[in-house]
Amino acid sequence: MPAKRTPARELLFGNLWEYDPAPETAKAHIDERYGLFIDGKFVAPKSKKYFDSISPRDEQKLSEIALAGPSDVDAAYQAAAGAFKTWSKTPGLERAKYLFRIARLLQDRAREFAVAETLDGGKPIKESRDFDVPMAAAHFFYHAGWADKLEYVTPGRTLAPLGVVGQVIPWNFPLLMLAWKIAPALATGNTVVIKPAETTSITALKFASILQEAGLPPGVVNIVTGAGETGSAIVNHPLAAKISFTGSTAVGKAIQRALAGTGKRLTLELGGKAANIVFEDAPLDQAVEGIINGIFFNQGHVCCAGSRLLVQESIAAPILSKLKLRLKSLRTGDPLDKNTDVGAINSKAQLTRIQDLVAAGVSEGAEIHQPVCDLPPKGFYFPPTLFSNVSQSHRIAREEIFGPVLSILTFRTPEEAIEKANNTHYGLSAGVWTDKGSRILKMSTELKAGVVWANTFNKFDPTSPFGGFKESGFGREGGKQGLLDYAQLI
Ligand code: NAP
Ligand code: MG
Repeated sequence: MPAKRTPARELLFGNLWEYDPAPETAKAHIDERYGLFIDGKFVAPKSKKYFDSISPRDEQKLSEIALAGPSDVDAAYQAAAGAFKTWSKTPGLERAKYLFRIARLLQDRAREFAVAETLDGGKPIKESRDFDVPMAAAHFFYHAGWADKLEYVTPGRTLAPLGVVGQVIPWNFPLLMLAWKIAPALATGNTVVIKPAETTSITALKFASILQEAGLPPGVVNIVTGAGETGSAIVNHPLAAKISFTGSTAVGKAIQRALAGTGKRLTLELGGKAANIVFEDAPLDQAVEGIINGIFFNQGHVCCAGSRLLVQESIAAPILSKLKLRLKSLRTGDPLDKNTDVGAINSKAQLTRIQDLVAAGVSEGAEIHQPVCDLPPKGFYFPPTLFSNVSQSHRIAREEIFGPVLSILTFRTPEEAIEKANNTHYGLSAGVWTDKGSRILKMSTELKAGVVWANTFNKFDPTSPFGGFKESGFGREGGKQGLLDYAQLI
């Protein structure tokens, strides 16, 4: 039994310690209108259609984005196939120089990219500034390092590129997901046709200007924008040697069905419903920070978010009271403010989905806890939310909410924790909090998840492969394993 604990003390000072607004002032340099980036230049779409990109921060229009139709996607593939002839034969050392240049240019323009990412997607500026942009640059640096050393990935065998790779990415980490996809593809000698998500195309289009500055040969990377139909045109194009998709499990399944029998290679990085498991011997205050970061980082728009908290029954009460207190000190609101912890929800549609699932949680009998917060009058916002008394059959315990909503369940024994944690269609990530190394090892062997964090959560590194089990997908991004998914052994 743990020692008797004194109740958590409230370190809140009413509104005496209110922070002053600290708006980020750097300019995002967003064009009024963007074309498609094909064969090294921006071109008007043959479809002649554009759609508006708005900011979830205040619902203001940011730009007009070209809508790529099938003939635009075809033009992108033709350019990529043409470029593949020389790029695939370009020595690794030369490919490495381009990747290195891209990484350096991203670092040079990091602040501008961070502001654009925050305006376009709604994530707090401190996250786009300290996580998304530096991590994107880190992926290009890391893969620059591999490009001339591929013979060491599989000693005695040669890694050859596949051809043109079609890539489709989601809206939660727009620039970072683009880096996860483009860097390994280029390092291994492939060329690319990529589509960002409809609501977050801007940093991908700004990235095109970095490719121009880096002097990347035309056609090696082509960026086409649009919604699901454009994605489908990328997936089904006959010139694609491989498809790499990150997004929802439903769309991933449809893609796998469409590709069956075509011979195209496939990587699927799909959804998750991670268990964050806290044992009674864990350092509780550290665990509380890990739980908060695990679910409220990027408003919970995180595939590997720790959205199911499994807490040992003996410490359920102190953990809940500490979490409720911590929740009160989270600052929700303007993502451009440097003090904001929880920014804007990415889109109206996502906000509605979160609201529906939270309503289901209440009607199915879970107990809701939300702090009082002043949300901005315009834009899409949702307060950070906890649910206690959640049972495994509740929708909020089964479905991916992809929002700032945590479901709290309890367990008594490690076996019960494992069984409950694995009781999901997903298998992307998990967290274990305990003082015992042996328990960490046992749990990480038994948990069916691609990543298991111990006494921490949401830690990423380009050297570490990331990917899922079960309905969270297959294939890995990052590390040596990620390179293998973009190459054939000859
Ligand atoms: P989504 O609806 O599946 O969309 C992902 C991408 O696919 C978007 O670019 C989307 O276009 C496009 N798309 C939609 N329908 C398509 C179709 N029929 N064929 C081809 N492409 C199509 O997912 P989302 O809502 O953007 O993203 C959230 C999901 O991504 C969550 O489930 C999350 O867990 C998952 N995710 C997984 C990882 C991972 O590494 N495992 C990482 C991040 C996110 P539009 O959006 O423009 O319509
Ligand atoms: Mg947007």
